[in-house]
Amino acid sequence: MKKLLANLLRQLGVLKYDYLVSRQDAFPQTPETEPDELILVESGAIQKWACLSCPGGCGERIALSLNPDRRPRWSIRTDFWQRPTLHPSVHQQNDCGCHFWVKKGKVHWCKGGRPQTPKEKAE
Ligand SMILES: [Zn+2]
Repeated sequence: MKKLLANLLRQLGVLKYDYLVSRQDAFPQTPETEPDELILVESGAIQKWACLSCPGGCGERIALSLNPDRRPRWSIRTDFWQRPTLHPSVHQQNDCGCHFWVKKGKVHWCKGGRPQTPKEKAE
Protein backbone atom coordinates (compact mmCIF):
# COMPACT_ATOMS: atom_id res chain seq x y z
CA MET A 1 0.00 0.00 0.00
CA LYS A 2 2.75 2.37 0.96
CA LYS A 3 4.45 1.44 -2.29
CA LEU A 4 1.42 2.52 -4.32
CA LEU A 5 1.39 5.82 -2.48
CA ALA A 6 5.11 6.25 -3.03
CA ASN A 7 4.61 5.56 -6.72
CA LEU A 8 1.83 8.15 -6.90
CA LEU A 9 3.90 10.76 -5.08
CA ARG A 10 6.76 9.98 -7.43
CA GLN A 11 4.56 10.64 -10.46
CA LEU A 12 3.49 13.93 -8.89
CA GLY A 13 7.14 14.82 -8.46
CA VAL A 14 6.83 15.02 -4.68
CA LEU A 15 8.91 11.97 -3.89
CA LYS A 16 12.11 11.19 -5.71
CA TYR A 17 13.66 7.79 -6.00
CA ASP A 18 15.19 5.39 -8.47
CA TYR A 19 14.79 2.35 -6.24
CA LEU A 20 12.38 1.16 -3.61
CA VAL A 21 13.05 -1.84 -1.41
CA SER A 22 11.03 -5.03 -1.61
CA ARG A 23 11.76 -7.62 1.03
CA GLN A 24 12.01 -11.32 0.28
CA ASP A 25 13.25 -14.29 2.21
CA ALA A 26 14.72 -16.05 -0.82
CA PHE A 27 17.15 -15.05 -3.52
CA PRO A 28 15.04 -13.72 -6.42
CA GLN A 29 14.77 -15.34 -9.82
CA THR A 30 16.27 -13.21 -12.59
CA PRO A 31 13.11 -12.07 -14.40
CA GLU A 32 11.56 -10.78 -11.20
CA THR A 33 13.72 -7.73 -10.66
CA GLU A 34 11.98 -4.55 -11.78
CA PRO A 35 14.21 -1.64 -12.87
CA ASP A 36 13.15 0.46 -9.90
CA GLU A 37 13.09 -2.34 -7.38
CA LEU A 38 15.85 -3.23 -4.98
CA ILE A 39 15.21 -6.63 -3.49
CA LEU A 40 16.39 -7.03 0.05
CA VAL A 41 16.83 -10.71 0.82
CA GLU A 42 16.61 -11.33 4.54
CA SER A 43 15.88 -14.23 6.77
CA GLY A 44 14.54 -13.18 10.12
CA ALA A 45 16.67 -10.27 11.29
CA ILE A 46 19.61 -11.27 9.10
CA GLN A 47 20.15 -9.29 5.94
CA LYS A 48 21.71 -11.40 3.21
CA TRP A 49 21.61 -9.77 -0.21
CA ALA A 50 20.63 -6.60 -1.99
CA CYS A 51 19.65 -7.26 -5.62
CA LEU A 52 19.08 -4.57 -8.19
CA SER A 53 19.34 -3.88 -11.90
CA CYS A 54 22.25 -1.72 -12.95
CA PRO A 55 20.95 1.82 -13.54
CA GLY A 56 23.38 2.41 -16.43
CA GLY A 57 21.02 1.03 -19.03
CA CYS A 58 22.98 -2.18 -19.38
CA GLY A 59 20.37 -3.95 -17.27
CA GLU A 60 23.06 -5.97 -15.55
CA ARG A 61 21.76 -7.74 -12.49
CA ILE A 62 23.72 -6.77 -9.38
CA ALA A 63 23.77 -8.80 -6.18
CA LEU A 64 25.47 -7.19 -3.21
CA SER A 65 26.40 -9.27 -0.20
CA LEU A 66 25.19 -7.89 3.11
CA ASN A 67 26.85 -10.68 5.06
CA PRO A 68 29.17 -9.05 7.64
CA ASP A 69 31.50 -12.05 7.48
CA ARG A 70 32.23 -11.66 3.79
CA ARG A 71 34.25 -9.16 1.82
CA PRO A 72 33.26 -7.09 0.04
CA ARG A 73 30.12 -6.32 1.93
CA TRP A 74 27.57 -3.56 1.80
CA SER A 75 25.26 -2.11 4.36
CA ILE A 76 21.76 -0.96 3.58
CA ARG A 77 19.41 1.40 5.35
CA THR A 78 15.85 2.21 4.39
CA ASP A 79 13.77 5.26 5.18
CA PHE A 80 10.04 5.59 5.82
CA TRP A 81 9.26 5.17 2.12
CA GLN A 82 11.54 2.13 1.87
CA ARG A 83 14.05 4.09 -0.14
CA PRO A 84 17.41 2.37 0.19
CA THR A 85 20.77 3.90 1.08
CA LEU A 86 23.73 1.67 0.25
CA HIS A 87 27.23 1.92 1.58
CA PRO A 88 29.82 1.85 0.10
CA SER A 89 29.36 2.68 -3.59
CA VAL A 90 28.68 0.05 -6.24
CA HIS A 91 31.44 -0.38 -8.81
CA GLN A 92 30.69 -2.80 -11.62
CA GLN A 93 33.68 -4.79 -12.83
CA ASN A 94 32.06 -5.74 -16.12
CA ASP A 95 31.95 -3.92 -19.47
CA CYS A 96 29.64 -1.16 -18.35
CA GLY A 97 31.97 -0.17 -15.50
CA CYS A 98 29.15 1.64 -13.76
CA HIS A 99 30.16 3.30 -10.51
CA PHE A 100 27.50 4.88 -8.37
CA TRP A 101 26.08 5.46 -4.93
CA VAL A 102 22.49 4.81 -3.94
CA LYS A 103 21.33 7.38 -1.40
CA LYS A 104 17.72 7.63 -0.26
CA GLY A 105 16.70 5.61 -3.28
CA LYS A 106 18.45 7.91 -5.75
CA VAL A 107 21.38 6.98 -7.96
CA HIS A 108 24.36 9.32 -7.62
CA TRP A 109 26.95 8.73 -10.31
CA CYS A 110 30.63 8.84 -9.48
CA LYS A 111 32.86 10.91 -11.72
CA GLY A 112 33.41 8.85 -14.88
CA GLY A 113 31.20 6.13 -13.46
CA ARG A 114 28.30 6.63 -15.77
CA PRO A 115 28.34 4.73 -19.08
CA GLN A 116 28.54 7.10 -22.02
CA THR A 117 25.92 7.17 -24.70
CA PRO A 118 27.27 6.79 -28.26
CA LYS A 119 26.67 10.52 -28.79
CA GLU A 120 28.80 11.51 -25.81
CA LYS A 121 31.57 9.22 -26.96
CA ALA A 122 31.70 10.99 -30.32
CA GLU A 123 32.20 14.42 -28.74
ZN1 LIG B 1 25.94 -0.87 -15.88
